[in-house]
Amino acid sequence: MPPENQEECNNSLNNVITKALGIYSHKYKFSRYNIYKKNTDGALLIFNTKTGAFSILTSQFINTEDKERYLTDLVKNGYIIEKERNERGEVIEDFKKVTDDKTIMRLIILPAEICNFRCIYCYETFSGRKRPNEIAKAIVKFVYRHIKKLKTLEISWFGGEPLLAAESIISVTQECLRLAKANGVKFLADVTTNGYLLTPRLCKNLIAVGITGYQVTIDGIAEVHNQYRKLKTGGDTFQRILENLCGIKRLNDEIYVIVRTNFDQNSIYKLDEWINLYSANFGDDKRFRLLLRPIFRSGSERDRRLKICPLEKAAKIESEFSLYLWEKLGFPDSYFYEVLLPSPKAVYCYGGLSGCWVIGANGKLWKCTDALDETSSLGYLEENGTLSIDHRKLTEWQLDTKSWIYDRDCQDCIFLPLCVGGCILSQKKRKKGCYILHQSITDAMEMYYMKKYLKGGD
Ligand code: SF4
Ligand code: SF4
Repeated sequence: MPPENQEECNNSLNNVITKALGIYSHKYKFSRYNIYKKNTDGALLIFNTKTGAFSILTSQFINTEDKERYLTDLVKNGYIIEKERNERGEVIEDFKKVTDDKTIMRLIILPAEICNFRCIYCYETFSGRKRPNEIAKAIVKFVYRHIKKLKTLEISWFGGEPLLAAESIISVTQECLRLAKANGVKFLADVTTNGYLLTPRLCKNLIAVGITGYQVTIDGIAEVHNQYRKLKTGGDTFQRILENLCGIKRLNDEIYVIVRTNFDQNSIYKLDEWINLYSANFGDDKRFRLLLRPIFRSGSERDRRLKICPLEKAAKIESEFSLYLWEKLGFPDSYFYEVLLPSPKAVYCYGGLSGCWVIGANGKLWKCTDALDETSSLGYLEENGTLSIDHRKLTEWQLDTKSWIYDRDCQDCIFLPLCVGGCILSQKKRKKGCYILHQSITDAMEMYYMKKYLKGGD
């Protein structure tokens, strides 16, 4: 639903464009993906969901006679486009191109379907499997078979707790890195871990084989985190994870660390204390990023133990606390652009990429880490590095016709370039997961203007 002042903003922009373009105004039209916010002082804030550009047109800018500058800025950022362009068609074309791109391989590998934690919201069933050597070899053989056709190879280690199989992670990643280097393929690797075993020393060994991305979960201050994320044997985990992260911060390597905080309605009451603690420890290090995420319903038994926020409320809480964190960090531009403003994408998630596979500890194949049950499995990675796939099941993950991107309401939605139809699992269940709030975007835009242009003067 467009905000009430959208039309008024369109008129403002129209004036700017008419003024800027003069006789050329017949050549251009507004992008259908502009989100506006007009400030009381006359400044016009614009965010374009297709280009991800954000601009502030102050009244001085609007009144300047420099028409060349108007034109360049407005066209470059995609706020106005040539009349014959079909932006919606372009979004759909990009989506098709990327989902079918065979030059990108993304492997999400579960080296150990076991865990040393028992988090209260975990949906994993823990088969107890740890990857035998044959599967490690099969993964390398699979990469070897395809490497010549690739431009990008991305390996993500996931669990259970992947670091329970650290040796295997190191040997497989090392071999994949070698193959990528030998064939001029871009190589990326990351690990999602509970952080308990991620000592600075182990981290150094992982970095040495090219693993530069780390996602570690801390669900709040000790009192909250220790309730949600206990050891399998019942012990607390907060202090050790925090110490590990502080140790990793002292390493000088080029890495990035996402500290993920999951919340439900019971855990948000101390979120501000956690944000303060996080900022004091990691706020000065650009390699660290705190990500707040609501816990979603899984439809399983675990939902009863939690007080899960409804989708819209969760998005609001996420946005409010993200703004609070931004303030604590001193309003860095990087946080604003990377976290507060959603980024356009060609495809919503890895599950939609034809070259993406989730590989279980025994070689079982899936498409998504949120659907690791027996019925969702698509087949096996064979020991010789080939895939045995149930093609009937695979078509359910092919987005050619099933994506919401072909739905009329989605095609009319201003968020289409940000959400691209959303989660495939929700598409399979014919349920939309619209999670982006117009208000969160305009609040962030307004706060940026107040803090950066008006120097905090509210
Ligand atoms: S799923 Fe919802 S947010 Fe995404 S494009 Fe469709 S209507 Fe818009
Ligand atoms: S399909 Fe949905 S649940 Fe699965 S990885 Fe994509 S976004 Fe996540």
